[in-house]
Amino acid sequence: MKKTKSLILLLLVSIATINAQNPLVQSLLNDVQLDSLTNFVKQLSGENAVIINGVTDTIKSRQYQQPGNEKAFQFMKQEFIRYGYQIDSFAFNTDGKNLFAIKTGYKYPNRRFMLGAHYDNWPLTTIAPGADDNASGSATVLEAGRVFANYSFPYTIVFALWDEEEVGLLGSIAYVPTIGSNNDTLMGYVNADMLGWDSNNDSVADINVRQVANSVTLLNKAQFCNSAYNIQLGLHIVDPGNGSTDHAPFWNNGYSAIGIDEEYDNDFNPFWHTTSDSLVKFNLSFYQKCSKLAYATIAEFALDTLNTVGIKENTLASQFQLFPNPFTKQITIRSERPDLLISAVVISDCTGRIVYESQINHQAPTLLISENLERGIYFIEVFTSEKSFVKKIIKQ
Ligand SMILES: [Zn+2]
Repeated sequence: MKKTKSLILLLLVSIATINAQNPLVQSLLNDVQLDSLTNFVKQLSGENAVIINGVTDTIKSRQYQQPGNEKAFQFMKQEFIRYGYQIDSFAFNTDGKNLFAIKTGYKYPNRRFMLGAHYDNWPLTTIAPGADDNASGSATVLEAGRVFANYSFPYTIVFALWDEEEVGLLGSIAYVPTIGSNNDTLMGYVNADMLGWDSNNDSVADINVRQVANSVTLLNKAQFCNSAYNIQLGLHIVDPGNGSTDHAPFWNNGYSAIGIDEEYDNDFNPFWHTTSDSLVKFNLSFYQKCSKLAYATIAEFALDTLNTVGIKENTLASQFQLFPNPFTKQITIRSERPDLLISAVVISDCTGRIVYESQINHQAPTLLISENLERGIYFIEVFTSEKSFVKKIIKQ
């Protein structure tokens, strides 16, 4: 009898633990301010002026060929610096540039959770607010920067702002193959694209997911957060999730990702990609809920030191040695496992241009490359008898 009682008690304790809110996440969600979110939207969509490097200016359009694209980049960079983040950026072509704000984890600095949104917009006009698509997502990422700055996390959190999504997801496609090049591991990605429109006021948001890596674990966490933190969204699961925004390259490369957006199927924003896509059309309560869902999901994962989600460990790369790196004349790639062979190697420069391709089907444990590359940073993709991996190499 006693034994049964303690078993029941133990079960109750574990159920309570499973459903428990994390007080830190709740506190973080309490810090989210709708005024702050909407102010970022106004600044990014030209409704409010911005001060960039001490000069007052207006972002009239973030379309990739418009001057406002670079202004938006500089404005967001400045905001993240102000909140104390380490900044990184990645130019993937002559006018495309991703922005990253990094909050290094105190326990697992190389394991990253990422929240991202594209900041470029459409249409191709000198004035185009692009408030819903996608100042809403960009402002969600900026507000995350403001709020998360006050907390510490065992895992690293990266806030990403992609460029040139509107012309074929170019920013995120360029970024994903570089994951792992600094011995970093991407644990999971949450994308935010169009969070402001809810004309029927049903509070239904899409969560896009695919059966790739542990994407469903991310979805489950988002569903848990929606109820545990009383966010009160209706979640419409889209599986397989749509391939037309920045979560798609993550799935396509085997990483775990989900994408949060307003309900595309039944309540699509008719002002999408028009010059009337402005903040006044937002359902503000819905917008704030979507942002909170993204924050809670990322924060829950980034705080969980017992995280066994292992979303995608780049274990393949750790089976190989690349040396010396940086290199001057030659670089050697060597497999540490007799059954794991190198079948081909491709080296690209920072713009994605291929500068070296080995013969296919070496099927060798070791490969020596000596190419007359110019000094600089390159990405080497090593195709093996299993999958491929990418590492950053430096020619001196
Ligand atoms: Zn978009």
